[in-house]
Amino acid sequence: MVYTIEMLTDRIKSGEKQYDLEKIQAAYEFAEKSHRGQVRTSGEPYISHPVAVAYILLEMCMDTDTLCAALLHDVVEDTGVELDTIRRKFGEDVALMVDGVTKIGQVPLNTKEEQQAENIRKILMAMSKDIRVIIIKSADRLHNMRTLACRPPEKQRKTSLETMSFYAPIAHRLGMYDIKEEMEDLALYYLDPYGYKEVQNALAARKDKGESFIDTIKRRIAERITDIQPPPVIEGRVKSIYSIYKKVYVKGKNFEEIYDIYAVRVIVHSIIECYNVLGVIHDMFRPIPYRFKDYIATPKPNRYQSLHTTVIGREGVPFEVQIRTVEMHNTAQYGIAAHWKYKAGINKKVAGEKRFDWIRQILDQQQEADDVEQIAEAVKVDLAQDEVYVFTPKGDVITLPVGSTVIDFAYSIHTQVGNRMTGAKVGGRMATFDYQLKMGDIVEIMTTNSPNYGPNRHWMDIAKTNEAKAKIRAWFKRECRGENIERGKTAFEAEMKRSSIPLDEEFIKQIAKRQHFDNVDDFYAAIGYGGVMLSKVMQKAKDDYLKMQKPAEDLTAAMDGTEISRTISDAIARKQSSGVIVDGIDGCEVRFAKCCNPLPGDDITGFVTRGFGVSVHKADCKNVLEQKNNPANAERWINVKWASGTTATYEATLDIVAQDRTALAADITLAIASSRIPIHELIAHHLKNGNANITLTVEISGVEQLKNIIVKLNKIDGVVSVERAGK
Ligand code: MN
Repeated sequence: MVYTIEMLTDRIKSGEKQYDLEKIQAAYEFAEKSHRGQVRTSGEPYISHPVAVAYILLEMCMDTDTLCAALLHDVVEDTGVELDTIRRKFGEDVALMVDGVTKIGQVPLNTKEEQQAENIRKILMAMSKDIRVIIIKSADRLHNMRTLACRPPEKQRKTSLETMSFYAPIAHRLGMYDIKEEMEDLALYYLDPYGYKEVQNALAARKDKGESFIDTIKRRIAERITDIQPPPVIEGRVKSIYSIYKKVYVKGKNFEEIYDIYAVRVIVHSIIECYNVLGVIHDMFRPIPYRFKDYIATPKPNRYQSLHTTVIGREGVPFEVQIRTVEMHNTAQYGIAAHWKYKAGINKKVAGEKRFDWIRQILDQQQEADDVEQIAEAVKVDLAQDEVYVFTPKGDVITLPVGSTVIDFAYSIHTQVGNRMTGAKVGGRMATFDYQLKMGDIVEIMTTNSPNYGPNRHWMDIAKTNEAKAKIRAWFKRECRGENIERGKTAFEAEMKRSSIPLDEEFIKQIAKRQHFDNVDDFYAAIGYGGVMLSKVMQKAKDDYLKMQKPAEDLTAAMDGTEISRTISDAIARKQSSGVIVDGIDGCEVRFAKCCNPLPGDDITGFVTRGFGVSVHKADCKNVLEQKNNPANAERWINVKWASGTTATYEATLDIVAQDRTALAADITLAIASSRIPIHELIAHHLKNGNANITLTVEISGVEQLKNIIVKLNKIDGVVSVERAGK
């Protein structure tokens, strides 16, 4: 049948729903002009196809814009009209729908595996941001299936496979059962002509018997019901060929054992009537146990509602009865599309109604559990938000995390594709390496066979997947040892400098060994290609370096090889000058303030000097107390603390007052020497009151030791007072 614009407009005029006929006419004229000269394989002018698609959508009561988009749906793809032109002439909505239909038409449909099919269905759904795009595409596909006879056999097979794998399941999921069944029957016709014929023949053989059977049932039901309520519409039908085919060929059932070849539908006016009819039917015929389903109380996720029951008539033939209201019947026929039936045909925007969220919400609901066969086949549209599905030029689906780039894509195809990638095209256009892939992108990777080519180090920062990163790293590890060593060494040395750790060859060997490398070059190489994180290495290096400041004996035990440990203890000796840790700064220059001579155990504070690093004072030093509140220096005070376990020693000066006597200085010297404390200086003054004042400078490890000395000195005969200098 060739559809014409007159058929379309006549049908619009005879219907109840209001349409913007002028706009539809304009869309037709624009499409007709654009397609003029093009013919279909059947020889008909091309425009008959978009008109037919619009007609199918009109039968589903879709709105004006949908019909316009249907008329224009092949214009951009096939005639080179710009989308902007359509936007200007027919508005944003129509343009977006045309664009959507064009785009999902370009998704390569690869029917190889069920898993792939599932992903592709998700892509199709996700790309149809306006659900009307999918509805138009379904009508488009249905018309192509209806006119498939003119196409060459391999095209028939390919199109039918696609329909079976993608479009029929989507129509099913959206509740567009009429379209789904027609698509399946047509596809089966091309995919298994013999099976199709066999079912058809078996049905034909029963045709007369079947028809009279259905008629009898219809009449009997009508008689009984009319007694109690307004007369319903009763339809009788034979189930679709494909649904019977599945039972015979997939489930291996004998044609005779199939229930539900025949079905009767009772369409009433209210829900109460539905249950009344059910009661009557169960009274008239024997119900088959477990075949009753109440989709009125529990609608299917796609809003399908009906009562289903299978009963056995007097003849012993089982048949299914579906009972529903008129409104439910519309939904059952058109599914999601029924949503537009009661909307004005002339576009009035309803906030959010054409948003994809709306459809998503329906699709996200749990599938009912009692319909096992259907669930198995249903499109499960759980659009994973964290994944993106893209295609190879051959149509294989590649699943990648959101944010993945063409680099990730290349490496997910094959390591060699990644390593040899020189560039990438997305949708036929050159893309940058950091291009983030979008749902449905078709990605082509360009490669080179040049022997010296390889990935760029920079790619590791661009790649999103660990797989790609690991493969890039592996390449650098293998291919660029010399360069890696150089890079690694430079980076490592820079970090060591930054941490003020001297570049001691033996110490670096130790670090490498700790990281399980046989030699320093391997260690550098690993840093260079990214196999070892420099930040982690540096953390350990710093820890080791701090440990080196512990007594040498400990280190000897910790390290093996006396040669090395001696070198390290030399390093310790050089570094032991302070024993103070300055907050946030490693190996910083530290001086002890002469005014207070702080000792380990004292509360201390640091002052950042101009030129001498940090000067350390006792927290209660009078200079500190005076200066602490000077706003000019506020930012120069810094937290410092004593490093634990150091062997550092400090100078402390004591002021001793004693009654002057012979051998006083000797007694003091002796007391201190017995504690094995070196004396740096001892100055004695004779005072006029007969006392002596002795200033004593000793080398000690901290406050504790100093206290012990003070106790000892106080016990010496004639000592009046012992005080730490510089208070
Ligand atoms: Mn088309």
